[in-house]
Amino acid sequence: MSRVSRQSGILFVLSGPSGAGKGTVCQALMKQMPQLCLSISMTTRAPRLGEKDGVNYFFRTKEEFKSMMEHGELLEWANVYDNYYGTPRKFVESKLQEGIDVLLEIDIQGAMQVKKHYPSGVFLFLIPPSATELQARILGRGTETDESFKQRFGAARYELAMMNQYDYVVVNDVVDAASERIQAIVTAEHCNVSRNLYLLTEW
Ligand code: ADP
Ligand code: 5GP
Repeated sequence: MSRVSRQSGILFVLSGPSGAGKGTVCQALMKQMPQLCLSISMTTRAPRLGEKDGVNYFFRTKEEFKSMMEHGELLEWANVYDNYYGTPRKFVESKLQEGIDVLLEIDIQGAMQVKKHYPSGVFLFLIPPSATELQARILGRGTETDESFKQRFGAARYELAMMNQYDYVVVNDVVDAASERIQAIVTAEHCNVSRNLYLLTEW
């Protein structure tokens, strides 16, 4: 296949309320689809116990984050639950050009920015099976203060209302099942006619 005719990578964007299981499902997905590349975000939030710089996030100061923003080095950025988060641009653009699929695990504000610039991106919304389960998951993770729990759980209702801006909804009942549904979406998107028109020219 020539360089010109092959498919470029597809940009997948996964959002959902805090505690829905985005991080957990992404880890499962990465094991099952190692060809999919997960973008590591920048954040000004403090690392949680066990989180590592360059693995979970690039943990940066507000000044460092601001400087990246001002230099156009972020593909998108947002203030989420009182901290800044953003996607480093260079990594994503170069992977897509190389024909590698990229997955962004980002909030809704960021996803809407990406949608403007990458209308051919695929937007997935991950939800927990119920509000009770969401509450149990955030509390069970044991990472939030009372205040940040309230903030995250309280935001879920408004976040869910944005679901209709996405292409797919995936219920995270069982981690492996949710991951398999996302794999099916990735496969289907690669078979989408609009992404394969180059086949006609080759014929
Ligand atoms: P998010 O990244 O969306 O904020 P996490 O991946 O941190 O969510 O998951 C929140 C908590 O819920 C974690 O403790 C995780 O182990 C748990 N969890 C995630 N998915 C499931 C699931 N399908 N069933 C039960 N617990 C889950
Ligand atoms: P957490 O603090 O729980 O790791 O993440 C909080 C929220 O920030 C989640 O909704 C997560 O998807 C979002 N987030 C993580 N990285 C990014 C990013 O690069 N950009 C945006 N806009 N949101 C992000």
